[in-house]
Amino acid sequence: MPFCISRRWHLRQLIAASSLVLLVACAEKPTAADAQPLQTVPVTTAPAVITPVVPTENLEIQPSQTFEQWQAAFRKDALAAGISPSLFDRAFAGVTPDMSVIRADRSQPEFARPVWEYLDGALSALRVRKGQALLSQYADTLSAIEQRYGVDRQVLVAVWGMESNFGSFQGDKSVIRSLATLAYEGRRPGFAHAQLLAALQILQQGDIAPEKMLGSWAGAMGQTQFIPTTYNTHAVDFDGDGRRDIWNSPADALASTAHYLQSSGWQKGQPWGFEVTVPGTFNYALADGAIRKSVAEWTQLGVKLPNDASVPAGSEQLSAALLLPAGYRGPAFLILDNFRAVLKYNNSSSYALAVNLLSERFSGAGRINGEWPKDDLPLSRTERIELQTLLSANQYDAGNPDGIIGANTRKAIRAAQQSFGWPADGYPTRKLLDSLRNR
Ligand code: CA
Repeated sequence: MPFCISRRWHLRQLIAASSLVLLVACAEKPTAADAQPLQTVPVTTAPAVITPVVPTENLEIQPSQTFEQWQAAFRKDALAAGISPSLFDRAFAGVTPDMSVIRADRSQPEFARPVWEYLDGALSALRVRKGQALLSQYADTLSAIEQRYGVDRQVLVAVWGMESNFGSFQGDKSVIRSLATLAYEGRRPGFAHAQLLAALQILQQGDIAPEKMLGSWAGAMGQTQFIPTTYNTHAVDFDGDGRRDIWNSPADALASTAHYLQSSGWQKGQPWGFEVTVPGTFNYALADGAIRKSVAEWTQLGVKLPNDASVPAGSEQLSAALLLPAGYRGPAFLILDNFRAVLKYNNSSSYALAVNLLSERFSGAGRINGEWPKDDLPLSRTERIELQTLLSANQYDAGNPDGIIGANTRKAIRAAQQSFGWPADGYPTRKLLDSLRNR
């Protein structure tokens, strides 16, 4: 689901696995792959030094106005924006706040899912087989889409699989009701207000009937899980029936995805990246999404392909960053422009890794050589907050202790790791937390 703050803020349940590997601090949304239960990791010892404050969840709605008052004010905004009164009243007939949406908006999962488990779910044998069958079934449509947008078919089908399990998990909530709830009493009312206006514009264009405009609790719609503003800028009618139907038409959904990836900088025929190995002594501080070097420069630093393979021909001068999804002990990847294009869809490096590996699995590739550090389970949210608090108390400014490992926290972790003489990969481990507790 395309997004980030400006376009597509996905009020998404943070699966913490991805919060650990976000290249940029940003919210993300659930995909079908996330529908699996989070791993429940037993909480280890109680914090010895500091008891972090976890905000209590208060699901009582305490707005300054009633929903009816909010709706009357929003109706004026919508009419001023060109929505017809009759369309507005039809779309809002019987709409009330949806408490399950508020609950989802405020949920902050305690336990993180390790990236290797997330990938296992995302790249399941069943999903690979289904994707292969659909590549064959929609071969002609995909050829036409590739020709028009220059985006490879495998990645389109991979996004389709990740976003909605090829259309089978699109979300069954009324988009108008969900967004009205979030605009009335969500954490990002301004965002929801804009999305709700865009949703009404879609209805006014006649692409879908109000009762059929279904999606996730966050307002992501159809087989591509587009939010309404992304729909308005990038959804296309590819099957030529006059409606942009990302709910029921795979051709429209796949072409809309291609259009979005094209706009996000997809480079036809280029690799998304590849798995690499790094030398025994290496400056792991270079593994930072903000640090880019050409593939040739990384090679000069000793970064190699597994089994001494050569980098793909023509990729030497491409701009790459080094990604360590589970820290220096786990697999390493060089990631290029097409990886970044997928991040525009959903700003989680776990997600982008899953999409790109899945696209390769369809042809039997996409296997990872490196071993995941499975003895090193991700920190829980409470532990991440404690880590941030301890880092800041030790003069490594980790920013607001919110449990999200963003750029500030990563920088603070690297500084602490350097003070211990450890590889400065910026990855939050239990070993670091324990060492700071005992300092
Ligand atoms: Ca259509």
